[in-house]
Amino acid sequence: MIHTRFPNRLVMLGFGSIGQGVLPLILRHIDIAPTNITIVTAEPRGKEVAAQYGIRFIEQAATLENYRALLTPMLQKGDFLLNLSVDVGSVALMQLCQELDVLYLDTVVEPWAGGYTDPSLSPSQRSNYAMREAAIALRGMAAGGPTAITAHGANPGLVSHFVKQALLDIARDTGAPVATPPPCADRAAWAQIAEQLGVKVIHIAERDTQVGDRPKKPGEFVNTWSVDGFVGEGCQPAELGWGTHEKALPADGRRHESGCDAAIYLLRPGASTRVRTWTPLEGPFHGFLITHNESISLADYFTARNADGSVRYRPTAHYAYHPCDDAVLSVHELAGKNWEMQPEKRLMTDEIVRGMDELGVLLMGHQKGAYWYGSRLTIDQARKLAPHNNATSLQVTVAVLAGVIWAMENPRRGVVESDEMDYARILEICRPYLGEVVGVYSDWTPLQGRAVLFPEALDTADPWQFSNIRVV
Ligand code: NAD
Repeated sequence: MIHTRFPNRLVMLGFGSIGQGVLPLILRHIDIAPTNITIVTAEPRGKEVAAQYGIRFIEQAATLENYRALLTPMLQKGDFLLNLSVDVGSVALMQLCQELDVLYLDTVVEPWAGGYTDPSLSPSQRSNYAMREAAIALRGMAAGGPTAITAHGANPGLVSHFVKQALLDIARDTGAPVATPPPCADRAAWAQIAEQLGVKVIHIAERDTQVGDRPKKPGEFVNTWSVDGFVGEGCQPAELGWGTHEKALPADGRRHESGCDAAIYLLRPGASTRVRTWTPLEGPFHGFLITHNESISLADYFTARNADGSVRYRPTAHYAYHPCDDAVLSVHELAGKNWEMQPEKRLMTDEIVRGMDELGVLLMGHQKGAYWYGSRLTIDQARKLAPHNNATSLQVTVAVLAGVIWAMENPRRGVVESDEMDYARILEICRPYLGEVVGVYSDWTPLQGRAVLFPEALDTADPWQFSNIRVV
């Protein structure tokens, strides 16, 4: 089904697992001439895929020094820059697109190369919090300008729309149905729904069970999506939206000195910070608290304020990620080498023999305990639905497609975060590609099964404290 027609040009920056996975979806669902699409990327990877679809392929890395000279000749008013690269500063590209009157979407607020681990920057300065602040600081200059969607993949991205649907489901099932969901631009109304339902914690709870036909070798980092992307964010300080129900800041927790103040960071990498969480098929598990843009944007978006502006309610929000088993082994090896990257990397594609990505949001602390809402997509389903994808990438690429369509349908919105987009329209576009989409209630809490062995360390008065969720 064609969702929209785009007569202008589209430049794709980066053509790795996400770029290659989204191209066939764009050509399937957007009426655009292949001759109007150009790929600009740092390496030959994907060249044969581009050729298969008749797309121009330029092998040239974008850098701080050359990005304006490289991209400006390819972009005119009304065109689209789709940024699916690593190591290219998102904020610089957003600024350029505003100047050129060009639509923009990325899936993460990315710093220039080395920015995640730059020792000259403080943990706060190289946090996702700081990068998000820099991106949303462009709201003023972009007001009424071309739509620039910041951080819209699966997570960040799709999960923000899952949260809205989950809230409406819980409201319905607890006898407080929302007759007409508020527009997504109305943050206060959505925050009020979350507050009234008593949602204390939101996890992005993900269990990837995909396995390949050969095990990870020593000295090899294996993953189902960008190894560079995962290692980069995994080495950043752990970050989480910090809820108003939390009784005490963790000993290694720090607040930022400026900005929205919706989140904190921990003085340790996310890839060495584990949290207890739950998904319907996996049950309880330990996930990594990897920093993500949505941890901050969700906490900020769902903040309810008093008339004097003081904060009355905010949920704790963070990622709880169990990547595929070989990636867990890879992280373990990486940490043991003091975060020095393995000499070899392998992004699993054709060698995957089974498994699924169970990706959703877990809303906790309300009347019905915990509610997970999300996608269960197997590798077999993903392969049938779209070429050049595995289960993990398809959840991302269909969300990228939906964001691109939404930007084309809403071209003058300026800088937009996932939470501000129309959740129903995005879910409508994504749904055919998400496998089974389910909502499941659970009586799971992070205290389950623990009180017997080590009762003294637990806060039994409130199961939903971060001190109970964190694995120490
Ligand atoms: P990948 O490593 O497979 O591919 C990255 C691509 O960027 C490659 O084509 C590479 O050549 C290109 N590239 C690297 N440096 C470049 C430069 N200087 N100029 C131009 N191109 C350059 O990564 P991926 O899995 O395709 O992920 C792409 C991006 O999407 C990453 O930033 C990743 O963090 C993000 N991502 C977001 C989500 C989400 O759900 N929001 C999920 C997966 C990936």
